[in-house]
Amino acid sequence: MAKNYGMVIDVAKCTGCYACFLACKDENAGEEHPGYTAAPPMTGQHWINLIEVERGTFPKVKHNHIPVTCAQCDNPACIDSAENGAVYKREDGIVIIDPVKAVGQKQIVNSCPYRVIFWNEEKQLAQKCDGCAHLLDKGYKEPRCVEMCPTSALLFGDLNDPKSAVSQVVAAQKPYARTPEYDLGDKVLYLNIPRKFVAGAVVYKDSDQCAENVTVTIKGEGVDQSYKTDIFGDFWFEELKSKADYTVEIAEPGYKKISLKVRTNTDVNLGNLFLEK
Ligand code: SF4
Ligand code: SF4
Repeated sequence: MAKNYGMVIDVAKCTGCYACFLACKDENAGEEHPGYTAAPPMTGQHWINLIEVERGTFPKVKHNHIPVTCAQCDNPACIDSAENGAVYKREDGIVIIDPVKAVGQKQIVNSCPYRVIFWNEEKQLAQKCDGCAHLLDKGYKEPRCVEMCPTSALLFGDLNDPKSAVSQVVAAQKPYARTPEYDLGDKVLYLNIPRKFVAGAVVYKDSDQCAENVTVTIKGEGVDQSYKTDIFGDFWFEELKSKADYTVEIAEPGYKKISLKVRTNTDVNLGNLFLEK
């Protein structure tokens, strides 16, 4: 059976080290891979890149890195935009921009909603990640970015082989497209793209001390979770839906109950919540 390449990116494992970015530069920038890709310039093109996301407000802040690259889609918008078969999908699922046929076809750049196609002004050529197809065809098991990732945040393999690590992660953890609304049949799938959080800190008003080991609950949108505050009185509820309504309650024996309505239009820092007798 033909191979069917796919990748799973686990955002929770990405440390933002940029080793994948540098490996891609090392493999491709200024390098000709005849029949696959023409040499992109040293700067201005990022066939794999990191979106840096800072969420929340001080001091309840989280920082994440989301690696982004061509999703090697099963229904690629870029193919439809190209003339003369200048963009095509290989039998193994990798989408290639033909470096000869695509010359002059600037419309290909704007066809991708993920914005992962770049314009080479000097060569008048649309260019993007080819999944290191030039290496895979020589027997390499994975693209350079995957090979260099020190945390295994990037996992690559044959989705037609149920024993491959990537197939097993797909079956067990159900990764998803970065933007499912595009409906492109993404073959680069994600785990743990951060959702919204609600955080805060509980303080005893009478003593002005952090309230450790106090139960805080959040309810709404199918969520019913409890959290014991830590030594600093802090609590975090993560993986909440966006633009959803929740109720946060703090019920500590001997103190007045606190009940707050929150809406997750953004990540929410409730600040210090004071327990009063
Ligand atoms: S992510 Fe964009 S460039 Fe890559 S195959 Fe899909 S539509 Fe084409
Ligand atoms: S190499 Fe791995 S850990 Fe480092 S930035 Fe890339 S995906 Fe993240």
